[in-house]
Amino acid sequence: MAPDAVIVGTGPNGLTAGATLARAGLSVELYEAGATIGGGLRTESLFDSDIQHDICAAVHPMALASPFFKAFGLQERGVEMLHAPASYAHPLPGGAAGIAYHDLDATQAGLGPDGRRWRRLMRPLLQHSDGIVDLLLSDQRSLPRDPVAALLLARRVLAHGTHLASATFETEEAKALLTGVAAHAVGRLPSLTAGAVSMLLGHLAHGTGWPVPRGGSARIADALTAEITAHGGTFHTGRRISDLAELPRSRAVLLDVSPKTLVRITAGRLPTRYRRALARYTYGPGAAKADFLITEPVPWTNQAVGQATTVHLGGTQADIFRSETTTAAGVLADEPFVLVVDPVVADPERARPGKYPLWAYAHVPNGDTTDPIELITSQIERYAPGFRDTVIAQRGTSAAQYEEYNPNYVGGDIGTGAMTIRQSLLRPAPRTNPYRVPLPSVYLCSAATPPGPGVHGMSGYYAALAALHHEFGIRGRPSLGPVRDFGSTTRADMAP
Ligand SMILES: Cc1cc2nc3c(=O)[nH]c(=O)nc-3n(C[C@H](O)[C@H](O)[C@H](O)COP(=O)(O)OP(=O)(O)OC[C@H]3O[C@@H](n4cnc5c(N)ncnc54)[C@H](O)[C@@H]3O)c2cc1C
Repeated sequence: MAPDAVIVGTGPNGLTAGATLARAGLSVELYEAGATIGGGLRTESLFDSDIQHDICAAVHPMALASPFFKAFGLQERGVEMLHAPASYAHPLPGGAAGIAYHDLDATQAGLGPDGRRWRRLMRPLLQHSDGIVDLLLSDQRSLPRDPVAALLLARRVLAHGTHLASATFETEEAKALLTGVAAHAVGRLPSLTAGAVSMLLGHLAHGTGWPVPRGGSARIADALTAEITAHGGTFHTGRRISDLAELPRSRAVLLDVSPKTLVRITAGRLPTRYRRALARYTYGPGAAKADFLITEPVPWTNQAVGQATTVHLGGTQADIFRSETTTAAGVLADEPFVLVVDPVVADPERARPGKYPLWAYAHVPNGDTTDPIELITSQIERYAPGFRDTVIAQRGTSAAQYEEYNPNYVGGDIGTGAMTIRQSLLRPAPRTNPYRVPLPSVYLCSAATPPGPGVHGMSGYYAALAALHHEFGIRGRPSLGPVRDFGSTTRADMAP
């Protein structure tokens, strides 16, 4: 029988779209190019069958804060989110370090003369955290539900997303600590979008936190897959779709793909204006990743750094502004921004005696083909001398190879599109409903739509709601929480 809806791509957004449609009582079929389900949520053994490595996403501030995942109930479904004492750390040359503890008081205490400034920055955001998350993980088309949150955010973005940022803190530790979070926007610094990213992720570090799922990111994909399957959905892996004509007939098609792929698989059927807008869509710098198997915890010069799962490397604020801007201009920086994830700090069961997984990626120009192992190893060595000697096995993935692995990471851009102001608001093209592709019954649901990159599942959720409304006449939102009697979740479950 023909499915009600077909989804191409099983990243977090394809899966949240699938789960939303399945919970609305529709039959869904999902097609995935890779051998396994999950997109950016895969966890695999790479060197040793005992040790699991996250292949892409590893740390989940956004999944924990996301309205979709809150309603879905990750923890109730057995996905245990584990926190390290510190959300992230930023060592500096010479041995000093800024540490963002989960606990705001501890962070304040560690930042000396800037402690109170850090608190004044973060505490109001924490008090309005739901409003901040609502705003930044919205479809960018709705009015803010918490105007105070919007105001707090706007003031902070202007202060920290511009060159004024250099004057907001006194110490290099506090300046670098915030700049490292801004660098998650992967682009020229400072910038207003990076300022917004630093406020979202920065305050979550002291709120819901920057956790890792026990056992790896694939546990999130497993929970979504189980939900879709329990509601009758089916998966086809190893099926890269090259033309929409390859898909079975259905009432809606949702695409968890890049705009580049969208143009290709619609094979000349897109209206010229939309196709031109997609041709103008730009991709940001790439990520080049190193996976390591090491014999012992990273020997950080500043031992406090070892309390964090995420470590930002790249020197002072001025160094990072320079290296990120150089990278965005298409030049490989000598000392690029490197983000290290040590999941064992929060999830010790991922290690075995003498065997620890570790990953790190460097920001590099889009499409760069350099094997990043040496670049990343020497950057870690600067802050953890002796690290090189702990490595038993390693694997480098260049930015160009990331696109081969997952076509959504165009040129290694793990955000599926540069986070410029324009593209933060108008991804992938200026349209009233960014999820609707101007072709009958076709929707885009990847990170190339609002609210953009990260594992929050909101793009998939919003695209599914749009499809429910326009293709099936369903205006309510399906309930998403765990239910015991799966047979009872039908269209009748819909909230008004
Ligand atoms: C190294 C790395 C580290 C990251 N770290 C984090 C992190 O710690 N926290 C965080 O929140 N985010 C992180 N991210 C970003 C996050 O993974 C992405 O933003 C997120 O996965 C985007 O979800 P998506 O569903 O839009 O696309 P993806 O997860 O990219 O999934 C798209 C899926 O669609 C499939 N596909 C594409 N085209 C086709 C086709 N034509 N036919 C069939 N299938 C197709 C792909 O194979 C893929 O499985 C990281 C990304 C990378 C690469």
